[in-house]
Amino acid sequence: MLKLVTELDQLLAMLDLPNDLLQEVNIPMHQFPLRVPVEFVKRMQKGDPNDPLLKQVLPVKYENESVINFTKDPLGESGANKIPGLLHKYHGRVLVTLAGSCVVNCRYCFRRHFPYEDNQITKDRWREILNYIKKDASIKEVIFSGGDPLLVKDGKLKSLVHDLENISHLTTLRIHSRIPIMTPSRITDEFVEMLSGLRLQSVIVTHCNHAQEIDSSVVRAISKLKNSGVTVLNQAVLLKGVNDSVKVLKDLSEAIFAAGAIPYYLHALDKVQGAAHFDVSIEEGRRLIAELEGLVPGYLVPTLVCEEAGAKSKVRL
Ligand code: SF4
Repeated sequence: MLKLVTELDQLLAMLDLPNDLLQEVNIPMHQFPLRVPVEFVKRMQKGDPNDPLLKQVLPVKYENESVINFTKDPLGESGANKIPGLLHKYHGRVLVTLAGSCVVNCRYCFRRHFPYEDNQITKDRWREILNYIKKDASIKEVIFSGGDPLLVKDGKLKSLVHDLENISHLTTLRIHSRIPIMTPSRITDEFVEMLSGLRLQSVIVTHCNHAQEIDSSVVRAISKLKNSGVTVLNQAVLLKGVNDSVKVLKDLSEAIFAAGAIPYYLHALDKVQGAAHFDVSIEEGRRLIAELEGLVPGYLVPTLVCEEAGAKSKVRL
């Protein structure tokens, strides 16, 4: 059963951290509350307020600051929200917001202000989404995103995927999920069998920012996916105080590859309101990647990208 930590004092107690850290936390918690799986907390270093995993989930007062160019909809997704539950940003693929939440609330989340309540997938909306895809033969790939699409139960996922399999011009199902890292036990045999039996090519894009996030249970989950023929890619977000050093990026690439995933993208931070304290300059990102190139083979160097509202694809930096 999924166990979550949602109370700050509980989190601090689990990590042997003093309660005076609560003074650093002064944001309206109802807007984007603390939420982190116990499994993930166990990978944090006790007694370290600067632990890179803790930093990703701990609400801090800086989130209240209003910073120029940091907005509620940094990617202009409202313009791509063609029908409720579906975003059509790029040629050839559409994204379905299958779930309205995640098992974790990452403090830098680009969708922390996304109107999930307007995008819930009801039966009627799913029918509309299928019709939208059927009418546009240029769409080859459907991306399940969210929130975290793996919060949807296997039985329901199976039925949704079955509907997609019947659309002949689709070739690929991609699932963006932080669950293989956060709660790897969710990668059940039933789920893996479902993916491996598909006509559609299946791709899972995990989201791991630091090698410390990868323990033996994560390795087992990713290996399971890889061994059943699923392509597993990882995307990380470049975050100040978390992974903005070449050593951390090198360790991450090596560890995620050893687990069975290819380091695919390193995203510059999306300029979402509340996350400016994580920002690393593009120049620094380029410098880190250049240095990383000198240390590891090319297949371990993720592509540094950013997303720009209205652009035809991710922008390589
Ligand atoms: S897992 Fe992704 S979508 Fe969910 S809170 Fe984290 S960054 Fe946002």
